[in-house]
Amino acid sequence: MEGFWEKYQTFLGTAAEKLKEVINAPPFRGLRINPEKISQEDLYRRYGYLETVPWCPEGYYLSEDMFLGKDPWHWAGAFYLQEPSAMLPVEVLDPKPGDKVLDLAAAPGGKSTQILSKLKGEGILVANEVNSSRAKVLTENLERWGYENFLVLNESPPNLEEKFEAYFDRILVDAPCSGEGMFRKNPKAIDEWSIEHVLGCSVRQKKLLTTAAKLLKEGGVMVYSTCTFNPEENERVVAWFLKQNPNFALESIEIKGVSPGVPEWAESNLELQKTFRIWPFQQKGEGHFAARMVKLCDDGKKSHLPKKGKPKRKKINMEEFSKFWQEYFTVPEPEVAFKGEKLLLLPQNLPDITGLKVVCAGRELGEIKKGRFVPSQALAFSLLSKKFTRALELPGELLQAFIKGESFSVPWSEGWYLICDEGVALGFGYVKKGVFKNRLAKNLRSFAF
Ligand code: SAM
Repeated sequence: MEGFWEKYQTFLGTAAEKLKEVINAPPFRGLRINPEKISQEDLYRRYGYLETVPWCPEGYYLSEDMFLGKDPWHWAGAFYLQEPSAMLPVEVLDPKPGDKVLDLAAAPGGKSTQILSKLKGEGILVANEVNSSRAKVLTENLERWGYENFLVLNESPPNLEEKFEAYFDRILVDAPCSGEGMFRKNPKAIDEWSIEHVLGCSVRQKKLLTTAAKLLKEGGVMVYSTCTFNPEENERVVAWFLKQNPNFALESIEIKGVSPGVPEWAESNLELQKTFRIWPFQQKGEGHFAARMVKLCDDGKKSHLPKKGKPKRKKINMEEFSKFWQEYFTVPEPEVAFKGEKLLLLPQNLPDITGLKVVCAGRELGEIKKGRFVPSQALAFSLLSKKFTRALELPGELLQAFIKGESFSVPWSEGWYLICDEGVALGFGYVKKGVFKNRLAKNLRSFAF
Protein backbone atom coordinates (compact mmCIF):
# COMPACT_ATOMS: atom_id res chain seq x y z
CA MET A 1 0.00 0.00 0.00
CA GLU A 2 3.01 2.26 -0.31
CA GLY A 3 1.85 5.60 -1.64
CA PHE A 4 -1.85 4.81 -1.35
CA TRP A 5 -2.77 7.18 1.48
CA GLU A 6 -0.53 9.94 0.15
CA LYS A 7 -2.37 9.71 -3.18
CA TYR A 8 -5.79 9.78 -1.57
CA GLN A 9 -4.82 12.67 0.66
CA THR A 10 -4.13 14.63 -2.54
CA PHE A 11 -7.29 13.48 -4.30
CA LEU A 12 -9.80 13.59 -1.48
CA GLY A 13 -8.41 16.15 0.95
CA THR A 14 -10.23 15.87 4.27
CA ALA A 15 -12.47 13.10 2.94
CA ALA A 16 -9.36 10.84 2.88
CA GLU A 17 -9.81 10.63 6.67
CA LYS A 18 -13.34 9.30 6.15
CA LEU A 19 -12.01 6.65 3.78
CA LYS A 20 -9.39 5.70 6.40
CA GLU A 21 -12.09 5.39 9.06
CA VAL A 22 -14.20 2.94 7.07
CA ILE A 23 -11.44 0.88 5.44
CA ASN A 24 -11.37 -1.67 8.28
CA ALA A 25 -15.12 -1.92 8.82
CA PRO A 26 -16.94 -5.11 7.68
CA PRO A 27 -17.86 -5.00 3.98
CA PHE A 28 -21.41 -4.51 2.69
CA ARG A 29 -22.86 -7.67 1.21
CA GLY A 30 -25.97 -8.12 -0.88
CA LEU A 31 -28.12 -10.24 -3.13
CA ARG A 32 -30.06 -9.47 -6.27
CA ILE A 33 -33.23 -11.44 -6.90
CA ASN A 34 -34.18 -13.14 -10.14
CA PRO A 35 -37.69 -11.69 -10.60
CA GLU A 36 -38.61 -14.57 -12.93
CA LYS A 37 -38.04 -17.01 -10.07
CA ILE A 38 -38.93 -15.10 -6.88
CA SER A 39 -40.54 -11.82 -5.80
CA GLN A 40 -39.79 -9.45 -2.93
CA GLU A 41 -42.67 -11.09 -1.09
CA ASP A 42 -41.10 -14.53 -1.48
CA LEU A 43 -37.78 -13.17 -0.28
CA TYR A 44 -39.25 -11.57 2.85
CA ARG A 45 -41.32 -14.67 3.63
CA ARG A 46 -38.17 -16.80 3.68
CA TYR A 47 -35.62 -14.43 5.28
CA GLY A 48 -37.59 -11.58 6.85
CA TYR A 49 -37.26 -7.92 5.90
CA LEU A 50 -34.08 -6.92 4.02
CA GLU A 51 -33.16 -3.32 3.20
CA THR A 52 -33.23 -2.48 -0.53
CA VAL A 53 -30.27 -1.10 -2.50
CA PRO A 54 -31.13 2.48 -3.59
CA TRP A 55 -29.66 2.22 -7.11
CA CYS A 56 -30.97 -1.26 -7.97
CA PRO A 57 -34.65 -2.17 -7.50
CA GLU A 58 -33.84 -5.92 -7.35
CA GLY A 59 -30.97 -5.52 -4.88
CA TYR A 60 -31.06 -6.13 -1.10
CA TYR A 61 -28.53 -5.86 1.72
CA LEU A 62 -27.64 -8.98 3.70
CA SER A 63 -27.40 -8.64 7.44
CA GLU A 64 -24.10 -9.55 9.12
CA ASP A 65 -25.31 -13.01 10.18
CA MET A 66 -26.73 -14.03 6.78
CA PHE A 67 -24.65 -16.51 4.79
CA LEU A 68 -26.61 -17.86 1.86
CA GLY A 69 -23.90 -19.46 -0.29
CA LYS A 70 -25.26 -22.95 0.33
CA ASP A 71 -28.92 -22.04 0.20
CA PRO A 72 -30.77 -23.93 -2.58
CA TRP A 73 -32.30 -20.67 -3.74
CA HIS A 74 -28.76 -19.45 -4.43
CA TRP A 75 -27.56 -22.40 -6.51
CA ALA A 76 -30.92 -22.69 -8.28
CA GLY A 77 -30.67 -19.09 -9.52
CA ALA A 78 -33.43 -17.47 -7.46
CA PHE A 79 -30.90 -14.79 -6.45
CA TYR A 80 -27.27 -13.86 -7.10
CA LEU A 81 -25.00 -12.93 -4.20
CA GLN A 82 -23.50 -9.62 -5.23
CA GLU A 83 -21.83 -6.74 -3.46
CA PRO A 84 -24.37 -3.87 -3.69
CA SER A 85 -22.18 -1.39 -5.56
CA ALA A 86 -21.51 -4.03 -8.25
CA MET A 87 -25.21 -3.69 -9.13
CA LEU A 88 -24.61 -0.16 -10.46
CA PRO A 89 -23.07 -0.67 -13.95
CA VAL A 90 -25.98 -2.62 -15.46
CA GLU A 91 -28.46 -0.06 -14.11
CA VAL A 92 -26.38 2.55 -15.94
CA LEU A 93 -26.28 0.41 -19.12
CA ASP A 94 -30.05 -0.08 -18.88
CA PRO A 95 -30.47 -2.76 -21.58
CA LYS A 96 -33.93 -3.20 -23.10
CA PRO A 97 -35.70 -6.38 -24.26
CA GLY A 98 -34.59 -7.16 -27.81
CA ASP A 99 -31.12 -5.56 -27.51
CA LYS A 100 -27.95 -7.31 -28.61
CA VAL A 101 -25.67 -6.90 -25.61
CA LEU A 102 -22.01 -7.72 -25.10
CA ASP A 103 -20.49 -8.20 -21.65
CA LEU A 104 -16.83 -8.06 -22.65
CA ALA A 105 -15.22 -9.16 -19.35
CA ALA A 106 -18.06 -11.17 -17.91
CA ALA A 107 -16.90 -13.79 -15.36
CA PRO A 108 -18.10 -14.81 -12.86
CA GLY A 109 -21.30 -13.37 -14.30
CA GLY A 110 -23.00 -11.14 -11.72
CA LYS A 111 -23.55 -8.37 -14.21
CA SER A 112 -24.42 -10.80 -17.01
CA THR A 113 -27.27 -12.27 -14.94
CA GLN A 114 -28.51 -8.74 -14.30
CA ILE A 115 -28.40 -8.03 -18.06
CA LEU A 116 -30.41 -11.21 -18.74
CA SER A 117 -33.08 -10.06 -16.28
CA LYS A 118 -33.33 -6.73 -18.10
CA LEU A 119 -33.59 -8.43 -21.52
CA LYS A 120 -36.50 -10.53 -20.21
CA GLY A 121 -35.68 -13.33 -22.65
CA GLU A 122 -35.69 -11.12 -25.79
CA GLY A 123 -32.54 -10.17 -27.69
CA ILE A 124 -29.20 -11.77 -26.99
CA LEU A 125 -26.37 -11.50 -24.49
CA VAL A 126 -22.87 -12.43 -25.61
CA ALA A 127 -20.92 -12.98 -22.40
CA ASN A 128 -17.19 -13.10 -23.07
CA GLU A 129 -14.42 -14.09 -20.68
CA VAL A 130 -10.76 -14.39 -21.61
CA ASN A 131 -9.88 -16.83 -18.79
CA SER A 132 -11.12 -20.32 -19.67
CA SER A 133 -11.75 -21.65 -16.16
CA ARG A 134 -13.61 -18.47 -15.25
CA ALA A 135 -15.63 -18.85 -18.46
CA LYS A 136 -16.92 -22.21 -17.16
CA VAL A 137 -18.08 -20.68 -13.88
CA LEU A 138 -19.71 -17.92 -15.91
CA THR A 139 -21.64 -20.52 -17.93
CA GLU A 140 -22.88 -22.27 -14.79
CA ASN A 141 -24.07 -19.00 -13.32
CA LEU A 142 -25.91 -18.03 -16.49
CA GLU A 143 -27.54 -21.45 -16.84
CA ARG A 144 -28.89 -21.17 -13.30
CA TRP A 145 -30.47 -17.83 -14.06
CA GLY A 146 -32.91 -19.62 -16.39
CA TYR A 147 -32.92 -17.72 -19.69
CA GLU A 148 -31.88 -19.22 -23.02
CA ASN A 149 -30.83 -16.06 -24.91
CA PHE A 150 -27.12 -16.03 -24.19
CA LEU A 151 -23.81 -17.24 -25.56
CA VAL A 152 -20.59 -17.68 -23.63
CA LEU A 153 -17.34 -17.03 -25.51
CA ASN A 154 -13.78 -17.48 -24.29
CA GLU A 155 -11.90 -14.98 -26.41
CA SER A 156 -9.31 -12.30 -26.10
CA PRO A 157 -11.40 -9.16 -26.90
CA PRO A 158 -9.58 -8.17 -30.15
CA ASN A 159 -10.59 -11.57 -31.61
CA LEU A 160 -14.22 -10.42 -31.54
CA GLU A 161 -13.58 -7.55 -33.94
CA GLU A 162 -13.91 -9.53 -37.16
CA LYS A 163 -17.29 -11.13 -36.43
CA PHE A 164 -18.89 -8.39 -34.39
CA GLU A 165 -17.83 -5.08 -35.91
CA ALA A 166 -20.55 -2.50 -35.08
CA TYR A 167 -22.90 -5.33 -34.08
CA PHE A 168 -23.99 -4.57 -30.52
CA ASP A 169 -26.66 -2.19 -29.22
CA ARG A 170 -25.08 -2.12 -25.76
CA ILE A 171 -21.70 -3.10 -24.39
CA LEU A 172 -20.52 -3.43 -20.81
CA VAL A 173 -16.78 -3.11 -20.20
CA ASP A 174 -16.46 -4.09 -16.54
CA ALA A 175 -12.72 -3.87 -16.65
CA PRO A 176 -10.09 -5.71 -14.60
CA CYS A 177 -8.77 -3.11 -12.16
CA SER A 178 -6.68 -2.53 -9.05
CA GLY A 179 -9.72 -3.44 -6.95
CA GLU A 180 -9.54 -0.76 -4.27
CA GLY A 181 -13.25 -1.33 -3.71
CA MET A 182 -12.38 -4.92 -2.76
CA PHE A 183 -10.01 -4.03 0.07
CA ARG A 184 -12.50 -4.83 2.84
CA LYS A 185 -13.76 -8.02 1.21
CA ASN A 186 -10.43 -9.32 0.00
CA PRO A 187 -7.38 -8.06 1.94
CA LYS A 188 -5.14 -9.71 -0.72
CA ALA A 189 -6.08 -6.83 -3.02
CA ILE A 190 -4.27 -4.50 -0.57
CA ASP A 191 -0.99 -6.43 -0.96
CA GLU A 192 -1.25 -6.26 -4.74
CA TRP A 193 -1.76 -2.48 -4.75
CA SER A 194 1.04 -0.32 -6.13
CA ILE A 195 1.16 2.76 -8.29
CA GLU A 196 2.76 0.66 -11.06
CA HIS A 197 -0.13 -1.83 -10.88
CA VAL A 198 -2.69 0.98 -11.10
CA LEU A 199 -0.96 2.42 -14.18
CA GLY A 200 -0.66 -1.05 -15.74
CA CYS A 201 -4.40 -1.53 -15.22
CA SER A 202 -5.18 1.77 -16.90
CA VAL A 203 -3.21 0.75 -20.01
CA ARG A 204 -5.21 -2.50 -20.22
CA GLN A 205 -8.48 -0.63 -19.63
CA LYS A 206 -7.78 1.75 -22.50
CA LYS A 207 -7.12 -1.22 -24.81
CA LEU A 208 -10.37 -2.88 -23.78
CA LEU A 209 -12.37 0.29 -24.39
CA THR A 210 -10.75 0.77 -27.79
CA THR A 211 -11.81 -2.73 -28.82
CA ALA A 212 -15.31 -2.33 -27.39
CA ALA A 213 -15.79 0.93 -29.33
CA LYS A 214 -15.37 -0.99 -32.60
CA LEU A 215 -17.99 -3.55 -31.63
CA LEU A 216 -20.69 -1.00 -30.81
CA LYS A 217 -23.13 0.14 -33.48
CA GLU A 218 -23.86 3.80 -34.07
CA GLY A 219 -26.38 5.10 -31.58
CA GLY A 220 -25.37 2.24 -29.27
CA VAL A 221 -24.53 2.63 -25.58
CA MET A 222 -21.36 1.50 -23.85
CA VAL A 223 -20.73 1.46 -20.10
CA TYR A 224 -17.24 1.43 -18.68
CA SER A 225 -16.98 0.37 -15.03
CA THR A 226 -14.45 -0.63 -12.38
CA CYS A 227 -14.54 -1.59 -8.72
CA THR A 228 -11.69 0.73 -7.85
CA PHE A 229 -11.62 4.31 -6.55
CA ASN A 230 -8.52 5.35 -8.44
CA PRO A 231 -8.99 8.33 -10.79
CA GLU A 232 -6.16 6.93 -12.98
CA GLU A 233 -8.45 4.01 -13.84
CA ASN A 234 -11.71 5.93 -13.88
CA GLU A 235 -12.12 9.59 -14.82
CA ARG A 236 -8.71 9.65 -16.55
CA VAL A 237 -9.40 6.56 -18.64
CA VAL A 238 -12.75 7.96 -19.74
CA ALA A 239 -11.27 11.41 -20.49
CA TRP A 240 -8.52 9.75 -22.56
CA PHE A 241 -11.05 7.61 -24.44
CA LEU A 242 -13.27 10.59 -25.29
CA LYS A 243 -10.29 12.48 -26.67
CA GLN A 244 -9.31 9.54 -28.85
CA ASN A 245 -12.88 8.90 -29.96
CA PRO A 246 -14.73 12.16 -30.67
CA ASN A 247 -17.65 10.10 -32.00
CA PHE A 248 -18.46 9.11 -28.39
CA ALA A 249 -20.13 11.29 -25.75
CA LEU A 250 -20.97 10.82 -22.09
CA GLU A 251 -24.66 10.52 -21.35
CA SER A 252 -26.46 11.03 -18.07
CA ILE A 253 -29.21 8.78 -16.77
CA GLU A 254 -31.07 9.03 -13.49
CA ILE A 255 -29.67 6.67 -10.86
CA LYS A 256 -30.77 6.98 -7.26
CA GLY A 257 -28.43 7.50 -4.32
CA VAL A 258 -25.01 7.67 -6.02
CA SER A 259 -22.33 10.40 -6.31
CA PRO A 260 -21.02 12.00 -9.53
CA GLY A 261 -17.51 11.48 -10.90
CA VAL A 262 -14.93 14.21 -10.31
CA PRO A 263 -13.92 16.33 -13.36
CA GLU A 264 -11.00 17.91 -11.44
CA TRP A 265 -9.26 14.55 -11.51
CA ALA A 266 -9.08 14.57 -15.31
CA GLU A 267 -8.19 17.98 -16.70
CA SER A 268 -11.51 19.39 -15.42
CA ASN A 269 -13.53 17.93 -18.28
CA LEU A 270 -16.94 18.94 -16.90
CA GLU A 271 -18.67 16.21 -18.88
CA LEU A 272 -17.27 13.79 -16.31
CA GLN A 273 -19.94 14.98 -13.89
CA LYS A 274 -22.19 12.63 -15.86
CA THR A 275 -20.24 9.62 -14.56
CA PHE A 276 -21.18 7.75 -11.38
CA ARG A 277 -19.35 6.86 -8.21
CA ILE A 278 -20.04 4.87 -5.09
CA TRP A 279 -17.77 5.48 -2.08
CA PRO A 280 -17.81 3.35 1.07
CA PHE A 281 -17.95 6.52 3.19
CA GLN A 282 -20.80 8.09 1.20
CA GLN A 283 -22.95 5.13 0.14
CA LYS A 284 -23.67 1.71 1.52
CA GLY A 285 -21.38 -0.04 -0.96
CA GLU A 286 -17.74 -1.04 -1.31
CA GLY A 287 -17.02 1.32 -4.19
CA HIS A 288 -17.59 1.43 -7.94
CA PHE A 289 -17.26 3.74 -10.92
CA ALA A 290 -19.44 3.74 -14.05
CA ALA A 291 -19.54 5.90 -17.19
CA ARG A 292 -22.24 5.68 -19.87
CA MET A 293 -21.13 6.66 -23.35
CA VAL A 294 -23.11 6.79 -26.57
CA LYS A 295 -21.60 6.25 -30.02
CA LEU A 296 -22.73 9.15 -32.17
CA CYS A 297 -24.01 8.57 -35.69
CA ASP A 298 -21.74 9.40 -38.58
CA ASP A 299 -23.63 9.48 -41.85
CA GLY A 300 -20.50 9.03 -43.93
CA LYS A 301 -20.08 5.50 -42.65
CA LYS A 302 -21.47 2.28 -44.07
CA SER A 303 -24.67 0.90 -42.61
CA HIS A 304 -23.91 -1.17 -39.57
CA LEU A 305 -27.11 -3.09 -39.50
CA PRO A 306 -26.32 -6.75 -38.94
CA LYS A 307 -26.75 -9.09 -41.85
CA LYS A 308 -30.03 -10.90 -41.69
CA GLY A 309 -29.95 -14.63 -42.02
CA LYS A 310 -31.91 -17.61 -40.88
CA PRO A 311 -30.48 -18.98 -37.66
CA LYS A 312 -29.01 -22.39 -38.17
CA ARG A 313 -31.55 -24.70 -36.61
CA LYS A 314 -32.24 -28.28 -37.21
CA LYS A 315 -35.64 -29.90 -36.85
CA ILE A 316 -35.03 -33.33 -35.52
CA ASN A 317 -37.73 -35.88 -35.26
CA MET A 318 -37.07 -37.09 -31.77
CA GLU A 319 -39.94 -39.31 -30.84
CA GLU A 320 -38.83 -39.93 -27.28
CA PHE A 321 -38.24 -36.24 -26.64
CA SER A 322 -41.67 -35.37 -28.09
CA LYS A 323 -43.34 -37.97 -25.90
CA PHE A 324 -41.61 -36.55 -22.82
CA TRP A 325 -42.49 -32.98 -23.73
CA GLN A 326 -46.15 -33.72 -24.43
CA GLU A 327 -46.51 -35.67 -21.21
CA TYR A 328 -44.89 -33.12 -18.91
CA PHE A 329 -45.00 -29.65 -20.42
CA THR A 330 -47.90 -27.26 -20.97
CA VAL A 331 -46.08 -25.28 -23.67
CA PRO A 332 -45.46 -26.39 -27.28
CA GLU A 333 -42.41 -28.50 -27.96
CA PRO A 334 -39.45 -26.27 -28.94
CA GLU A 335 -37.27 -26.78 -31.99
CA VAL A 336 -34.09 -28.43 -30.86
CA ALA A 337 -30.59 -28.97 -32.16
CA PHE A 338 -28.63 -32.13 -31.62
CA LYS A 339 -25.08 -32.58 -30.35
CA GLY A 340 -24.22 -36.24 -30.06
CA GLU A 341 -26.95 -37.72 -27.88
CA LYS A 342 -27.68 -34.36 -26.30
CA LEU A 343 -30.58 -32.11 -27.22
CA LEU A 344 -29.97 -28.37 -27.20
CA LEU A 345 -32.26 -25.38 -27.24
CA LEU A 346 -30.47 -22.70 -29.28
CA PRO A 347 -30.91 -18.99 -28.60
CA GLN A 348 -33.04 -17.13 -31.17
CA ASN A 349 -31.10 -15.06 -33.73
CA LEU A 350 -27.80 -16.69 -32.98
CA PRO A 351 -25.02 -14.54 -34.48
CA ASP A 352 -22.31 -16.09 -36.64
CA ILE A 353 -19.75 -17.45 -34.20
CA THR A 354 -17.81 -19.81 -36.44
CA GLY A 355 -14.13 -19.78 -35.64
CA LEU A 356 -14.60 -18.38 -32.12
CA LYS A 357 -14.03 -20.29 -28.86
CA VAL A 358 -17.58 -21.04 -27.81
CA VAL A 359 -18.09 -22.29 -24.25
CA CYS A 360 -21.86 -22.38 -24.37
CA ALA A 361 -24.39 -21.80 -27.15
CA GLY A 362 -27.73 -23.25 -26.25
CA ARG A 363 -29.21 -24.87 -23.19
CA GLU A 364 -28.85 -28.60 -22.83
CA LEU A 365 -32.36 -30.00 -22.39
CA GLY A 366 -31.33 -33.59 -21.80
CA GLU A 367 -30.12 -36.65 -23.62
CA ILE A 368 -31.30 -39.89 -25.09
CA LYS A 369 -30.09 -42.70 -22.85
CA LYS A 370 -30.90 -46.32 -23.58
CA GLY A 371 -33.59 -45.14 -25.99
CA ARG A 372 -35.29 -42.82 -23.46
CA PHE A 373 -35.15 -39.07 -22.93
CA VAL A 374 -33.52 -38.02 -19.64
CA PRO A 375 -33.96 -34.33 -18.68
CA SER A 376 -30.85 -32.36 -17.67
CA GLN A 377 -30.05 -30.24 -14.63
CA ALA A 378 -29.94 -27.23 -16.99
CA LEU A 379 -33.57 -27.90 -17.94
CA ALA A 380 -34.56 -27.80 -14.26
CA PHE A 381 -32.87 -24.38 -13.94
CA SER A 382 -34.49 -23.07 -17.15
CA LEU A 383 -37.50 -20.78 -16.82
CA LEU A 384 -39.26 -23.36 -19.00
CA SER A 385 -39.44 -25.56 -15.90
CA LYS A 386 -42.26 -23.30 -14.65
CA LYS A 387 -44.40 -25.06 -17.27
CA PHE A 388 -43.56 -28.55 -16.02
CA THR A 389 -46.72 -30.30 -14.88
CA ARG A 390 -45.30 -32.57 -12.20
CA ALA A 391 -43.59 -30.03 -9.94
CA LEU A 392 -43.51 -31.02 -6.27
CA GLU A 393 -42.64 -29.37 -2.96
CA LEU A 394 -41.18 -31.88 -0.49
CA PRO A 395 -41.54 -31.67 3.29
CA GLY A 396 -38.34 -30.57 5.16
CA GLU A 397 -36.62 -33.91 5.73
CA LEU A 398 -37.31 -35.26 2.26
CA LEU A 399 -36.12 -31.99 0.74
CA GLN A 400 -32.84 -32.37 2.64
CA ALA A 401 -32.58 -35.98 1.42
CA PHE A 402 -33.13 -34.77 -2.15
CA ILE A 403 -30.42 -32.11 -1.85
CA LYS A 404 -28.02 -34.71 -0.44
CA GLY A 405 -28.64 -36.79 -3.56
CA GLU A 406 -30.43 -39.64 -1.78
CA SER A 407 -33.06 -41.92 -3.28
CA PHE A 408 -36.09 -42.85 -1.18
CA SER A 409 -39.39 -44.77 -1.16
CA VAL A 410 -42.52 -42.87 -2.17
CA PRO A 411 -46.14 -43.82 -2.85
CA TRP A 412 -46.18 -41.86 -6.10
CA SER A 413 -47.01 -43.08 -9.61
CA GLU A 414 -44.21 -43.83 -12.07
CA GLY A 415 -42.61 -40.99 -14.05
CA TRP A 416 -40.55 -37.80 -13.82
CA TYR A 417 -40.91 -35.23 -11.00
CA LEU A 418 -39.43 -31.75 -10.67
CA ILE A 419 -38.51 -30.99 -7.06
CA CYS A 420 -38.98 -27.39 -5.91
CA ASP A 421 -38.09 -25.42 -2.80
CA GLU A 422 -40.82 -22.82 -2.12
CA GLY A 423 -41.59 -22.54 -5.82
CA VAL A 424 -37.97 -22.54 -7.05
CA ALA A 425 -37.11 -25.57 -9.22
CA LEU A 426 -34.06 -27.49 -7.96
CA GLY A 427 -33.82 -30.69 -10.00
CA PHE A 428 -35.44 -33.84 -11.36
CA GLY A 429 -36.06 -37.34 -10.08
CA TYR A 430 -37.69 -40.43 -11.55
CA VAL A 431 -40.09 -42.73 -9.72
CA LYS A 432 -40.15 -46.41 -10.52
CA LYS A 433 -41.77 -49.16 -8.44
CA GLY A 434 -42.23 -46.85 -5.48
CA VAL A 435 -38.60 -45.64 -5.42
CA PHE A 436 -37.65 -42.02 -6.13
CA LYS A 437 -34.36 -42.02 -8.06
CA ASN A 438 -32.51 -38.78 -7.54
CA ARG A 439 -31.28 -36.93 -10.67
CA LEU A 440 -29.94 -33.79 -8.96
CA ALA A 441 -26.54 -32.97 -10.55
CA LYS A 442 -23.75 -34.46 -8.46
CA ASN A 443 -21.85 -31.18 -8.10
CA LEU A 444 -24.87 -29.64 -6.36
CA ARG A 445 -25.31 -32.38 -3.80
CA SER A 446 -22.46 -31.06 -1.66
CA PHE A 447 -24.61 -27.98 -1.06
CA ALA A 448 -26.79 -29.87 1.43
CA PHE A 449 -27.07 -27.86 4.64
N1 SAM B 1 -18.30 -8.43 -14.88
C1 SAM B 1 -17.91 -9.48 -13.96
C2 SAM B 1 -19.05 -9.74 -12.99
O1 SAM B 1 -19.84 -8.85 -12.73
O2 SAM B 1 -19.14 -10.86 -12.48
C3 SAM B 1 -16.62 -9.17 -13.27
C4 SAM B 1 -15.49 -8.92 -14.23
S1 SAM B 1 -13.93 -8.72 -13.48
C5 SAM B 1 -14.01 -7.12 -12.85
C6 SAM B 1 -12.88 -8.53 -14.85
C7 SAM B 1 -12.72 -9.75 -15.72
O3 SAM B 1 -11.82 -9.39 -16.78
C8 SAM B 1 -12.11 -10.97 -15.05
O4 SAM B 1 -12.97 -12.07 -15.18
C9 SAM B 1 -10.79 -11.21 -15.81
O5 SAM B 1 -10.53 -12.59 -16.03
C10 SAM B 1 -11.02 -10.49 -17.11
N2 SAM B 1 -9.77 -10.02 -17.74
C11 SAM B 1 -8.56 -9.93 -17.20
N3 SAM B 1 -7.68 -9.44 -18.10
C12 SAM B 1 -8.36 -9.23 -19.22
C13 SAM B 1 -8.00 -8.75 -20.52
N4 SAM B 1 -6.76 -8.37 -20.80
N5 SAM B 1 -8.97 -8.69 -21.43
C14 SAM B 1 -10.22 -9.05 -21.14
N6 SAM B 1 -10.61 -9.49 -19.94
C15 SAM B 1 -9.68 -9.58 -19.00
